[in-house]
Amino acid sequence: MSYKDTGYYQKFPEEWVYFLKDELAREFPEYTSGKLLNGYLPPVCRKSLVGKIASKFPSKPEGITLGGVVYLTPHYMRVRNLFHAGSGAEAAKIYEFGMYAHETYHAIDQELTPDFPFLKGSGKWKWLMKYIARLIKTPNAYKHPMEIPAYLFQKHLKSLASKTLEKKASLNMHSYLSP
Ligand SMILES: [Zn+2]
Repeated sequence: MSYKDTGYYQKFPEEWVYFLKDELAREFPEYTSGKLLNGYLPPVCRKSLVGKIASKFPSKPEGITLGGVVYLTPHYMRVRNLFHAGSGAEAAKIYEFGMYAHETYHAIDQELTPDFPFLKGSGKWKWLMKYIARLIKTPNAYKHPMEIPAYLFQKHLKSLASKTLEKKASLNMHSYLSP
C-alpha cells in the first residue's frame, strides 16, 4: 500500500497555495461550488507501485494522476535533484510546485467530471477513458487536448511563484541598501 499524503501542499509557501486555489477556482467554476470541500487539494503518493509502473512509459512521466490521486514517479526526484544541483533550492521548489499544480489540475478535473448515471464516483474513471481514447489519436503529451491546459496552468503557477521570490529578493536588496 502506498501512503497518501493529504497535506502535501503544506510543503509550499502559503502564498503559493493561495494562488493555486485561486487559479483553480478561476479554471473550474465548480471548484468552490460545494461538490469538493472548500479549498480541496489532492493527495500525493511519493512512492507507489502506480508511480513505479508509470515511470516505465516511454514519455518518462514525473507524475501521474489517477482517480484524483497524484502519484509521483522515480523520475520526479531525479529531475528535481537536477534542478537543485543546477540552479539551487529555489529553482527546485518552483519545479516541485509546477509539477504539483499540473497534477492538481488533472485531479480536480477528474473529481469534477460528472459520473455515469447511477454510478457514484465513476466520473474520474470516465475522465481516464476519455484521456486514453484521445491518447490514441494524440500520442504527444504536449499536444493532447487534456494536457494543453494542464501545461499552461503549470507555467502560469510557476511564474506566479517565481514573482514572489523576486519580490522577496528585491525587498532584501532594499533593506540592505537603505538601513
Ligand atoms: Zn498531465
